[in-house]
This record gives sequence, C-alpha cells and structure tokens, in this order.
Amino acid sequence: MGNRAYNFNAGPAALPLEVLEQAQKEFVDFRGIGMSIMEISHRSAEYEAVNNETQNLLKELFSIPDGYKVLFLQGGASTQFTMIPMNFLQAGQTAAYVQSGAWADKAIKEAKLFGETAVVASSKDQKFMRMPDLGALNLSDQTAYLHVTSNETIEGSQVQSYPDTGSIPLIADMSSDILSRPVDVSKFGLIYAGAQKNLGPSGVTVVILREDMLERANANLPTMFRYDTHVKNDSLYNTPPSYSVYMINLVLHWIKRQGGLAALEKINRDKTDLIYNAIDASGGFYQGCVDADSRSRMNITFRLQSEELEKLFVKESQANGFVGLKGHRSVGGLRASTYNAVPYESCQALAQFMNDFSKRNG
Ligand SMILES: *Cc1c(COP(=O)(O)O)cnc(C)c1O
Repeated sequence: MGNRAYNFNAGPAALPLEVLEQAQKEFVDFRGIGMSIMEISHRSAEYEAVNNETQNLLKELFSIPDGYKVLFLQGGASTQFTMIPMNFLQAGQTAAYVQSGAWADKAIKEAKLFGETAVVASSKDQKFMRMPDLGALNLSDQTAYLHVTSNETIEGSQVQSYPDTGSIPLIADMSSDILSRPVDVSKFGLIYAGAQKNLGPSGVTVVILREDMLERANANLPTMFRYDTHVKNDSLYNTPPSYSVYMINLVLHWIKRQGGLAALEKINRDKTDLIYNAIDASGGFYQGCVDADSRSRMNITFRLQSEELEKLFVKESQANGFVGLKGHRSVGGLRASTYNAVPYESCQALAQFMNDFSKRNG
C-alpha cells in the first residue's frame, strides 16, 4: 500500500488504489485524445461512450431489470430528499417514511414542505440504535410512496430485509451501502445514492428510476427538478459532472474485477466481522452502539467507557496511521466506515490495534 493511510472516513471516503492509479494514468491524456476527460464537451463521442458504458455497467452489476433508467444528477442525495416529494407526493396523498436515523430525519423534513407525511416505523425512542421493524407496516391506500434509508451512516444501522409494498412505490436512500450487497431492484420505484461513499467521488448522485414512476409525477415543476427532463436527455440536459461519472465508471470496472456484488458482500462481511469480533470479545471494553440484528456492514459505531478514553483512542489511532475513526459530531463515540474500497488489510490492522489498545488500557 506504500504510504496510503488506513482510511476509515465516512464520506467522501476511500477509493480503490487501482482506480486512483488508472485515473492518474489517464489524467492528462484520456485514451489518446490529447486532452483530459474534463476538457471535452459532454456532447462528444468520447464522453457519450463513458456515460453509456457507466449506465450499462451499473445495470449489469446491480442486476437492474428492464424498464429502469439510470441517471447521473447533481445536488447530492440531499437534493433527492426534495425532488422525491416534489415529483411524487400529490394533493390528498401521504408520503410514508421510515424514521431510522439522522438521514431519514432530513428526508422527512423536506417532504413536509410538500404535503402530508406519515412516520410508519420509527426507532427514535431507541435513540436510533436499531433499524425499525419493517415487517408489519400499515400503509394507507393514499400512500404516495414508502421511503426507507437502507443504511444509517451516522448511527451505524442497516436494513436487513426490505418490505414488500405491493403497488405502493418503494423508494430507498442507498447512499452509504449501494453496491455493497445484491439487492432485488425490482422491488423499488426509485433508488438514489450520493456517490462519495461507495461509488466514486462527490459531485454526482446516481438515481435508478422505474419508468412508470414518471406517470405519477407532478406537472409544472421547474425543468431541472423534473425526473423526466433527465430521463429524456439521458442525463445530458445540462452539463453533467463528467469527471465524477468517469470515476464511477472506473469503480464499476473494479467491482466487476472483484467478482461483483455477491463477492463484495462476502468480503464486506469478513471485513466487518473482524471489527465486530474485536468489540464483542473485549469483555465490555468496547461497546457496539447498535443492536446486533441491525448492525451495519458499512459503518461500525462503538464506544469506550469514557470520553477521555475515546479521545486517547482517536489520538493513538492517528499516530498509527488510521484516519476517520472519530464518530459523527452529533452522536460522539467512534465509527469505522468500511465501504467497498476499504481493503481487508485495513480492517485487520484496525482489529489488531483495538486488541492492543484494550490490553494497554483495560
Ligand atoms: C451522506 C449521505 C447523504 C447526503 O449525501 P449528500 O450527497 O452529501 O447530499 C444522504 N443519505 C445518506 C444515507 C448518506 O450517507
């Protein structure tokens, strides 16, 4: 790994070294055109090839069925919090939300600006230290859609199995676990993800949209906030974040070389087992924040007995080459983000460090 850090940042986060090296190689002269991909028109044949191939790779790797469109938009996942109710919440309907943590709360806050909302499952009373039960949701006939957050990046919980919502569109914010495991995409009306955790750099948001969703969309919305604008123009209505899309392209090729999502799911399980085992075998020195059956395979949250000890842990971890282990400022504690691009060796090194630290301070 040379002088690469053990990068456990929550987002923007680690990218595969191979991807960075290929981008470096192509930086000044993209595949023989004598220019960077950043320096050419988004209407050029070269960029169109990147745009098309990236969509197709995503369809292939995520097993996206026919009848779905892949879009590359700007404004982050946070803009999707707005665009979804703006497009799909009609007068007389209710938008149903699963309140699972800080990101779900932000999505709910935006939806309230556009109409009626209902929290149909919540773990707020458990301080979000588990995923709400999605087994027996009560959705009225007037439900515009059900919104879930597949992985709560800040608290460290993850949906273990998605509900069946019948004819009610299921919408998921998969910003922090997209492509970390196989998912039955046919269950969803819309999936979205900011790229900067599991897909590439910041600046682009992937939206996977079932085409019949467009028939439900509100009319008379501003052009840039309409999904059909981007569907009709193949994400080229205005200038796209072309470099970020190119980087996603390289990441998808890397995922393919790893063996696809089934292989990644297994590696992610092995990686996180190393760290969860270090927590569970510490005799209470480390405490996992989230109930065992809701634990995330992307963001591992844990605490020590005192804030002083947590500060010491962060300080010593930094001195040993670990980056990003301080918990989110809103919840404190510690967090290791173990996205697809975080190598197994980094997780091994962290588990070893955790064992050593507990021996010295236990
Ligand atoms: C990071 C994150 C977001 C916000 O993404 P932006 O691209 O910064 O708007 C939303 N949802 C989840 C689950 C996230 O992890």
